[in-house]
Amino acid sequence: SYFSELGLPEPILRALAAKGYEEPTPIQRQAIPALMEGRDLLGIAQTGTGKTAAFALPSLHRLAQSGNKRKPASCRMLVLSPTRELAAQIADNMAYYAKHLSLDIQCIFGGVPVPKQARKLVGGTDVLVATPGRLLDLIDQRALTLRDVEIFVLDEADQMMDLGFIKPLTRVAAMLPEKRQSLFFSATMPSAIQQLGKRFIKDPVKVEI
Ligand code: AMP
Repeated sequence: SYFSELGLPEPILRALAAKGYEEPTPIQRQAIPALMEGRDLLGIAQTGTGKTAAFALPSLHRLAQSGNKRKPASCRMLVLSPTRELAAQIADNMAYYAKHLSLDIQCIFGGVPVPKQARKLVGGTDVLVATPGRLLDLIDQRALTLRDVEIFVLDEADQMMDLGFIKPLTRVAAMLPEKRQSLFFSATMPSAIQQLGKRFIKDPVKVEI
C-alpha cells in the first residue's frame, strides 16, 4: 500500500517522498481514509507509530481543498499538545508536509513572551499547534478566538491529564464550535480519559495500534 492509494494529493505526496516515507504505517493506513471523509477519530497509539502524519496529512489536504480563508485572530485547525517540545515537533513536521501547499502553520507555548506569540496570530493562521496554558492566555488576552476551528486534535490525552490540564481542556471544549472534526489520541485509555474524550469526539472511528 502506498500513500497515493490513500487519496492524498500530489503536493503532499511530493513532500513525503522528499522526507523518505515510502509506505504508510499501520495507523496511517487505518486513520487517513476515515479522516479524509471528515469522521471523528479515537486513536490509541504511542509516539513513534507515525501518528503525527496520520492526523496531519488528511487534515492538511482538507484545509487546502476547502475554500475557507483564515480570519484575523483565528485558526482553522487547532492541535493541542502537552509539552512545548512535542508541540514544536508536530509544527515542524506539519510545516514540512505542507511545504508545497499555501497554508500558514504556527506554534505557541509557554516560556516565550506572550506579545511575541500574539503577533503571529494577528492575521489568523490555518494551523495552530499549542500547549493548553499558553493557548488560554492568548484567548484571555483576545489575541485568539476558537470560533473558526474546523479541525481539533487533542494529542497525548493521558499526558495532559498527568500534567493537570483537565480544567484548561474543559474550557477549550466549551469554546470550540459544535460543527467541527475532532481527533483524540492517547497511549492509554483509562476511564477518566474516556470521559474526557466524550467531551470532544462524536461517533468516532477507533484506531488502536
Ligand atoms: P510520530 O509517531 O508521529 O512521532 O512519528 C515517528 C517518526 O516516524 C517520525 O520521525 C516520522 O518522521 C517518522 N514517520 C512517520 N510516518 C512515516 C512513514 N510512513 N515512513 C517512514 N517514516 C515515518
